Amino acid sequence: MTDYLSTGTLPEDYRDLAHTVRDFAQTVVAPVAAEHDANHTFPYKVVAGMAEMGLFGLPFPEEYGGMGGDYFALCLALEELGKVDQSVAITLEAGVSLGAMPVYRFGNDEQKQQWLPQLTSGRALAAFGLTEPGAGSDAGGTRTTATLDSGEWVINGSKQFITNSGTDITRLVTATAVTGQTGSKKEISTILVPTDTPGFVAEPAYNKVGWNASDTHPLSFTDVRVPEENLLGERGRGYANFLRILDEGRIAIAALSVGAAQGCVDESVRYAKDREAFGRPIGRNQAIAFKIARMEARAHAARTAYYDAAALMLAGKPFKKEASIAKLVSSEAAMDNARDATQIFGGYGFMNEYAVARHYRDSKILEIGEGTTEVQLMLIGRELGL
Ligand SMILES: Cc1cc2nc3c(=O)[nH]c(=O)nc-3n(C[C@H](O)[C@H](O)[C@H](O)COP(=O)(O)OP(=O)(O)OC[C@H]3O[C@@H](n4cnc5c(N)ncnc54)[C@H](O)[C@@H]3O)c2cc1C
Repeated sequence: MTDYLSTGTLPEDYRDLAHTVRDFAQTVVAPVAAEHDANHTFPYKVVAGMAEMGLFGLPFPEEYGGMGGDYFALCLALEELGKVDQSVAITLEAGVSLGAMPVYRFGNDEQKQQWLPQLTSGRALAAFGLTEPGAGSDAGGTRTTATLDSGEWVINGSKQFITNSGTDITRLVTATAVTGQTGSKKEISTILVPTDTPGFVAEPAYNKVGWNASDTHPLSFTDVRVPEENLLGERGRGYANFLRILDEGRIAIAALSVGAAQGCVDESVRYAKDREAFGRPIGRNQAIAFKIARMEARAHAARTAYYDAAALMLAGKPFKKEASIAKLVSSEAAMDNARDATQIFGGYGFMNEYAVARHYRDSKILEIGEGTTEVQLMLIGRELGL
């Protein structure tokens, strides 16, 4: 691992990984992306392919079935997948950084041995249950409760917008719940809920604007009973622990967003060279070339932002502000580039089967999920002492 990550000087193992995932994205993911998007189907075969490549185990040690890589390796894979299919990329991102990572970071030995091998191999998925109907940006507003009764947590409440929570291979949800109260302060803890527990229901999937091949459900918990030992991490630290997971997750979402932004550049360059109007390729007009040049600049600048945040994280230095900056600028780069690419494609850009149209619909959520743009600004402001 280098202390500094630069786009032009990546060590060979990182470059090889990016190359392998790029190849997989182009040859396996891209050909079926439009079909899964149109049919709103979860891409089980693609996910099995990613599992076979070890992508779900990238940042985990080999003792838990992982690849012994690091978080930056995960980011590189997400960037490559995000270029061609954001639904596939978010399935990996949520599976690793939101699903398995809380178990790895905060689980005890027994919990790690029980869950990580199946999650890191991609045989099973875990979901991250934080958001509720009344608690999104203000996640401390959690209303789901867990009370101890005869050595078991009894959970009641609901979660909403939870990724990977209802697939055929989803086996676990880590859910935040109020486990006590001191004065007006809620004690929030995290509890492991196997999805076959009676009383747990993944309600019918949402009909979304984009990320159509990604799995998203509301969840309900009605007298769900799990052993007391299913507490993940310290009692009362659930909210704080999930915030740590979200800090890291923002770097991963930034990488995915950079992929989307770059995918829009790549598609636009190809199209601008090929499509003719007024007797010449449209890219020969400076208005189009400048638009694409600006798109490239946005993607590149956003990439350096996530490289920087990842380098700080891997060096064990504070990275909260940089992760928020990376998430902010890269999600905006993705949305801006998707809008510009759609314009460059003209009427074809408005046709759902085109990759740029998919990016146009998919990119909006990048400015909302894992902390909205406003939440990133709030966090950056806080880090500046405001
Ligand atoms: C497809 C999808 C997948 C998701 N996956 C998951 C998942 O796997 N797990 C999970 O737990 N959650 C998940 N989420 C939830 C997501 O993280 C939340 O939607 C997001 O954090 C915003 O919360 P909210 O929707 O409640 O909006 P709100 O918090 O109600 O915000 C509404 C608007 O008000 C703004 N706002 C709020 N407070 C302030 C303030 N103080 N100052 C200025 N502006 C403010 C927000 O920025 C936003 O624009 C997912 C959401 C979607 C759509």
